[in-house]
Amino acid sequence: MSLRYVCVEVRHNLRCANVFLQFDHSLTETEFLKIVVENDALTFREYSTATRVALGKFFTAEARTISNLTVEECNASFRLTITSEPAQVTTDSTENPINNKRKIYITPKPNIEEGSQHIVLCKNCKCELSTILQCQRVREFPSGSIDVNEFFCHHGPKFDEVLVPQLTDFFYGFQFVVLNSELAQQQVKMKDKHVYCRRCLQYLGENVLNDNAMKLWMDTLLLKCQINDKDDTIINIVNEKVTPTCQLLHKIIEDTVVTDVAGEPLLQQIHFCKVLLEATFPCRKRKYLLLQVLEKHLQVLRNTKPLAHGSHNNNNVLQVQLEQCKSFKLLYRLLDETEDEGGGDDKRGEKDSGETSSASSTSSDSMLLKNWKEDMSIHVLKVSPTLFGTLLDELDENALLLPELYRYTHDHFQLSYIFYED
Ligand SMILES: [Zn+2]
Ligand SMILES: [Zn+2]
Repeated sequence: MSLRYVCVEVRHNLRCANVFLQFDHSLTETEFLKIVVENDALTFREYSTATRVALGKFFTAEARTISNLTVEECNASFRLTITSEPAQVTTDSTENPINNKRKIYITPKPNIEEGSQHIVLCKNCKCELSTILQCQRVREFPSGSIDVNEFFCHHGPKFDEVLVPQLTDFFYGFQFVVLNSELAQQQVKMKDKHVYCRRCLQYLGENVLNDNAMKLWMDTLLLKCQINDKDDTIINIVNEKVTPTCQLLHKIIEDTVVTDVAGEPLLQQIHFCKVLLEATFPCRKRKYLLLQVLEKHLQVLRNTKPLAHGSHNNNNVLQVQLEQCKSFKLLYRLLDETEDEGGGDDKRGEKDSGETSSASSTSSDSMLLKNWKEDMSIHVLKVSPTLFGTLLDELDENALLLPELYRYTHDHFQLSYIFYED
């Protein structure tokens, strides 16, 4: 048996469940696969072995209701009709969703107290990047979701000046910190406004506010707490309660929710939101990820580790319990920054005929990027290259759960998930 992953989208309101199966080889090599639907389980039977996936804890499947069966390469998928009542009654109190509710702070507050002393370290080589920061103010830096006026309500319109942190300020935002340039000037290396660790050349962030401040990515830094001269403790800047990618998706949802004057969300039924993610890489090239969030609280049952074949019981049946989680379902597309964004028409004529198609697709890609950048309704969010890469890896991996028929759209977006614990 070569079944590796089972992913079940549960839509109680539509009384249906979509089952996606990912195998480790192409199904054309499998001569025999039988799918058996029972009220409380799915069984996938091959010649001598079988995999039984228990579902009774979550819903009741109506037997013989398979529809939309798709078999393609390493994937198979089908739809079931379900009723919400679990086939088995569970008394497991840890399953109570209320107990599992966790508040996800969109921009977590850093582990730094006003009045404390810290030194900022490079996370990669642990060398000191700053002189001692005698921290007097810890403040959230204005960004898309926090108004500049809330930040400094008694200042005039010279925001560039008032936003520059003092030597004793620790400003932070979503996954970044903003520090006065003088704090770190000696220990970092600059090139074209980009900031690198002087010792290991890790890319840290960029100069902002006319080079008076540095915006550095939290995932490149550590903090050394100076409690007294002897006991130094080294900590992360924030405690991650959820994975950075999940935090990012929640940030996107939060930033794009339209609220009324009382702060209540409007347009709850809005079908999807578009976000343009931008990251600058150590080579100073920019990449973009075009995201369209289709669903944000989709219930999913899945196995997180590949199925361990070989641990079948006496009847050669592998018993599988799925875990319940929530997911974002989204379309994504990666675009590189191109030299000429948009107006590539005059150059196209000079290309050899063999290159025409690639030149015109480059041109349409840069048109797409230009349109997304100019669309006022599309939120643009800058993230660290590490977070950008992690998100892309997760999307690429989870996309493999879906048959290619569903995975690719006509405009070259891919469909995928980001899973999170509810
Ligand atoms: Zn370093
Ligand atoms: Zn949420």
